Amino acid sequence: MSSTQFTSLGLSEPLLRAVTVLGYATPTLVQLQAIPPILAGRDVLAAAQTGTGKTAGFTLPVLQRLSAGVRPRGNYVRALILTPTRELALQVAESVASYGQFLPLKSTVVYGGVKINPQMMKLRGGVDILIATPGRLIDLCRQNAVQLSNVEILVLDEADRMLDLGFSDELGQILSQMPVKRQNLLFSATFSAQIRTLTDAVLVRPVRIEVSPRNTTATSVKQLVYEVDSARKSALLSYLIDREDWRQVLIFTRTKKRADALAHQLAADGIATAVLHGDKSQRERSRAMGCFKGNRVRVLVATDVAARGIDINELPYVVNFDLPKIAEDYIHRIGRTGRAGCAGLGISLVCSAEAPLLSAVESLIGQLLPRTVIAGFEPQQPVPASVLRTLSVKKIKKPKRPKTPQQELDKKLSQARQRSSAKKQSAKSPGRNGATATKGRSAARRGGAILDSTTTKSTSAEHGKKRRDGQSSPAKKRSTGKFSHAAANRGTDERRR
Ligand code: AMP
Repeated sequence: MSSTQFTSLGLSEPLLRAVTVLGYATPTLVQLQAIPPILAGRDVLAAAQTGTGKTAGFTLPVLQRLSAGVRPRGNYVRALILTPTRELALQVAESVASYGQFLPLKSTVVYGGVKINPQMMKLRGGVDILIATPGRLIDLCRQNAVQLSNVEILVLDEADRMLDLGFSDELGQILSQMPVKRQNLLFSATFSAQIRTLTDAVLVRPVRIEVSPRNTTATSVKQLVYEVDSARKSALLSYLIDREDWRQVLIFTRTKKRADALAHQLAADGIATAVLHGDKSQRERSRAMGCFKGNRVRVLVATDVAARGIDINELPYVVNFDLPKIAEDYIHRIGRTGRAGCAGLGISLVCSAEAPLLSAVESLIGQLLPRTVIAGFEPQQPVPASVLRTLSVKKIKKPKRPKTPQQELDKKLSQARQRSSAKKQSAKSPGRNGATATKGRSAARRGGAILDSTTTKSTSAEHGKKRRDGQSSPAKKRSTGKFSHAAANRGTDERRR
């Protein structure tokens, strides 16, 4: 927060009235830095994590710029806000509606997992602001329900997450349908090499904004690690919720299955709990969120993707029941607490097997997290000390391991064996007389079969050896290709999560 007032940022009266109604006294840092250049029509690249007030940071000036122009034609869109998940899309749509409550602008939100027809109907008359998730937007474009050729402003919100979820192809398709001349705003909590490629492709001479150092968690969040054995995590959690009298706790698990199991266990311990993950219908998700926001349950257990976009003011506690596999997710999770400068507590329950994940998180945020052991929950398997790594963007190629003298000898022997068996085969070659020929043919057939199996064996043995030597066989190369494709598509699964 700052002492500068919203009135000094050049915002119009209807927008100032809206922020006053919402009770915002002063702009946050990201709002201070982003609003003036966006109003001036500049592209903006903002390193701002969730909880910094970034949504108002881009929505307020976008609304102001749009209110100066002409209304959209049927099915056309003037500003497009892309978000990685439906939860975030809904959240942003709510913000757009409340910040724009005194302006005559039309906005709508589209996302997957629900019927497409009502969304098509809403787009018919054209909208000033469309908030969308990439997959559903492409479906709507294919059905000519939405035209992007007049987009004046593009906002990529949580762009890092969009790429993590494998939306890069969809982004490419969407970008190709928009006019070249437009204003671009990109918000991201973390900055990977992939994000830098995206920013280079999308932004034109952007104003750069960094409200907190890259890859860090908000300073308003106190972070703690509780060392505990994996099997005792849920017991420790129930104990902590009870002892500390936590009233509103958001808990992250790595998988949907673990989310369900934990919720079941907490409920059995008498703690009112709701669950949020990708197997839940939109209605179930909304109900879970409603119960949690309305304090009808104390605990919300969620998976990473499902939890994106959760915005609860002054959420006091976030617990990592499991540490995330992707270290960046830690920042997103912890960002759920300590929002807009309020104090928060981020707790991670860490077992010995998670030590490498803890090291990865600590390397990313550049600090060691304080560790605690609770009496009665001392881990039988101690959690090893962390090893902090300096993260570099470029992966250093592993040098090929030189062959040992024994390996060289084995190779020469095997080549010699192959040469002598080939000589024997040619000596036995059929065609000298009928009997030998028949014998030879059957022997060759047998030999062929034997030879085939030997060849197969030696090939797979060689591949195995090559793999051990760090070289990839052609087959491996092909499958690596498939793997990266699968990895790129992982988002599809995660989106379902
Ligand atoms: P965001 O980072 O956009 O997800 O916003 C985080 C939270 O901060 C939301 O609940 C907003 O309502 C709130 N917020 C945004 N701007 C301000 C402000 N200037 N003063 C107080 N709260 C704010």
